[in-house]
Amino acid sequence: MKIFVILIIIKLVLASTHLPSFYHTTDDIEKEVKNILKNCQMKATQKKYGIINSITLKPKIENENKNKAFIIFGEHARELISVETGFHFLQQICKVGVDFKLKIIINMNPNSRRYVEKGYFCLRENLNGVDLNRNYGFEWKFKENHFVQDSSGPEPFSEIETQTVRDILTQFKPRTFITVHSGTLAILHPWAYKKEDIVISHNNFRGVKNNCVDCLLGGAATQIGYTASGNSMDYAYGVAKVKRSYTLEIFQLEKQNQRKEPDSNFAEFLQHKEKTQLSNKELFCFDYFNPRSEEQYNELVSKWSDIILQLIK
Ligand SMILES: [Zn+2]
Repeated sequence: MKIFVILIIIKLVLASTHLPSFYHTTDDIEKEVKNILKNCQMKATQKKYGIINSITLKPKIENENKNKAFIIFGEHARELISVETGFHFLQQICKVGVDFKLKIIINMNPNSRRYVEKGYFCLRENLNGVDLNRNYGFEWKFKENHFVQDSSGPEPFSEIETQTVRDILTQFKPRTFITVHSGTLAILHPWAYKKEDIVISHNNFRGVKNNCVDCLLGGAATQIGYTASGNSMDYAYGVAKVKRSYTLEIFQLEKQNQRKEPDSNFAEFLQHKEKTQLSNKELFCFDYFNPRSEEQYNELVSKWSDIILQLIK
């Protein structure tokens, strides 16, 4: 009888997430981050702003280094790999330590991410139906489109998530701000709201191109081909006066899968579909924004953690 109950519990636990086993749920991350911070090579603290956790890392021994960086992951919930990269990045930094200050938000959209973890793989906005990366108070434009999921919200900074980023930018005054996304491969700087590039005088910016030869590199709107109002990168550069403000796009379906046989991919896809009874649309969303193989996942979180470190040094 007892074994029967245990089996039911195991089945329920397994059914509660549709993520491949090497991905982390929001609850996993919250638990594991606490342990990582306890054993960190830096002075590590965590503060909760409403639904969001912000981590502060400082060198254990004070030094003259004025460098400060602020990095956010997972503005868009379905871009799971962004948050996974943030988690890996934190682990790496805590293992080796760096000689400057950092603030990190690993999981910017946790309430929506919890739905994504349950198989709603297409969810991008937060649970108020706001695209966080259209809600910042710089060149903000009202827009409501829950189909495309790039709604601006009723006014700039209507959301606790974007208010938190605004307040940290104002108080912390980082030299570098980075927001991490997926869906294409790119290392981008302002502007995103208009097709015009700022002049960038940061040697490491061109240097990182060697780490991602397939990446687009340059102004966001000119490279991607469309404009985006009220986004975090433009706000950090245009209002908070952060000289080095970047958007990273760290995964693209076709380019990342070039080495894989299309047939084996399709077989995997069908197998997964049968097991989980997810719709084609949801599975397409997962694969569009996130790597499905563990090998690719490991390669990607490690590569982009290195690129982020290079960009903030
Ligand atoms: Zn995104």
